[in-house]
Order: sequence, then C-alpha cells, then structure tokens
Amino acid sequence: MPEGDSVHQLSDRLQFMVGREVLATQLRVPSFALVDFSGREVEDIWPHGKHLFMRFGDQILHTHLKMEGSWAIHLKGDRWRKPGHTARVVVHLAGQPHPRPIEVVGHSLGLVRVFPANHYRETMGYLGPDVLGPDWLIDGRAIARARLLAQPERPIGTALLDQKNLAGVGNEYRVEICFVCGIHPATPVSGVDIDRVLDTTQRLMQANRTSPLRVTTGVKRAGENSYVFGRNHRPCRRCGTAITKGMLGGADLGGQSDELERVIWWCANCQPVPAQYPPGIPVSRAFPGGHG
Ligand SMILES: [Zn+2]
Repeated sequence: MPEGDSVHQLSDRLQFMVGREVLATQLRVPSFALVDFSGREVEDIWPHGKHLFMRFGDQILHTHLKMEGSWAIHLKGDRWRKPGHTARVVVHLAGQPHPRPIEVVGHSLGLVRVFPANHYRETMGYLGPDVLGPDWLIDGRAIARARLLAQPERPIGTALLDQKNLAGVGNEYRVEICFVCGIHPATPVSGVDIDRVLDTTQRLMQANRTSPLRVTTGVKRAGENSYVFGRNHRPCRRCGTAITKGMLGGADLGGQSDELERVIWWCANCQPVPAQYPPGIPVSRAFPGGHG
C-alpha cells in the first residue's frame, strides 16, 4: 500500500521531468479536463507525506495514489502496461536526448486536482509535518508531538493515521509501529510513550526511504518483512501467539478515510488490548472469520 516512503521514492523517480518542456497534457477528471500545461516547463516535483505535487509555472498539480494509484513512464508511441481507461493524468514532455517525446501517465489516482501555486500554504497547510521531510528533525517532530498530545484520549492507531498530526504514516506503518512499541493501536495517546512512538515511526520509515520492499522486521524477504501487518492467525515473531485482526473505528482523515485503513492487526500477548477496545462490539464480531 502506498505510504510516505513510496511517495518519496516516486518523487525521486519523476525528478527527470524537472526542467523539461511540456508538449501536451490531459487531465482525465471532469473538474480539470480543460487544464493544459503545454508550453510550460515542469519546474518542481516534491512529496509531502502521501501527497505528490508538480509545479507547472503558477499552477500546481496535486495527486494522491490512495490504494491503487501508480505512475508509468514510456516513450510516446510505446504500448502502455496498464489499461488506457485507468489513466487520470497524461503528460507529454520533450524527449531530449531521445528523439521521441516522453509520456508520463498517472493511473488510477485517488485524487487529481490543480490549484494556484501561491495558494499552496493555505490549501495544504492542514497537513502535519512530513516524517521523511527535511524539516522533521528541525521542528516537524516537535509539531507532530504537540498535535498528538493535544488529543490525549484518541487511540494512538487513529492519531498516527491522521495526516493533520503527521504526514506519511499509512495502515501498514501504524500497525507495525504499535507492535514495535508494544502497544495496542486502541491505546489512548495519554497511555503511550509518545517519544518512543515518534522515534520508531521515523526510524522505520527512514530505513525504507529508498527500499522497494517495505521491511520493519530487519528481514528483507517477502513474507518475513512485517511483524503483524497482513498476518492474521500467523504466529507472532516474538512470542508465537496467533496474530489477531480487527477494526479500529473511523479515523477522521479529512475526507480521505478508507475502509481498508480501519483494519488493524496485533499480538494479544505483546500488545495488551486496552479495556475500551473495541468500541461497543466484540472482536469476533468486529471481523468475523477474516484472513490476511
Ligand atoms: Zn507476541
């Protein structure tokens, strides 16, 4: 699932676009179908948490991968690897040194919009500090810490996923961070060592900043790279107890909530379940017979 590390890697991969002339664009979303960046240069590309921004002169193209999104790079005329109907953004760039233009295609993007570059701060200012951003160790961590502590009753698993607190953590990281810290995701913020949680968050995400396979266990093999994520019924890597799967109810994600992001996994031995979990429904009914 795309989380902050994936989007930072994507931004790295697309940096070749910067400085190239735009020959044509198509935004295949109704509200922005008439937007055309042709004749401009790609001036800047940067990530913030799970969001990606491209600046074309005085306009910013803002995209989010959500669950299924991806970007592909082709030479114009080459066959696309994904179906054309999934394309949401198509950008043709001057190809030098290639004779053919370069085609950059955003498929199945969960969000595509354009806004004026001078509105960046007011449009995106709601986002918390980027865990992988250059300012994290300057003031980002302190800002995120204060925002988390401002809602002491909130479950830590929900608070970590709220991009207004800190930007970049998705469902996989939040359950892995909670396991590494030995806390159940439903534990209130007031009941956790917030410095340990923040240090673990930054350490795990930074360790995967350039790695295509996300690893939280230190073992770079598919199937052994997570402690609890996607491991329902499988033995805990520390104590052997079967991993449990359940739900942690509706995070307020500013309209970006996703049903899949409510699923959590934990080890009932390493991460004791707090008294208030789950809110109103027994675990067995919260997720009957779930696998994965
Ligand atoms: Zn365990």
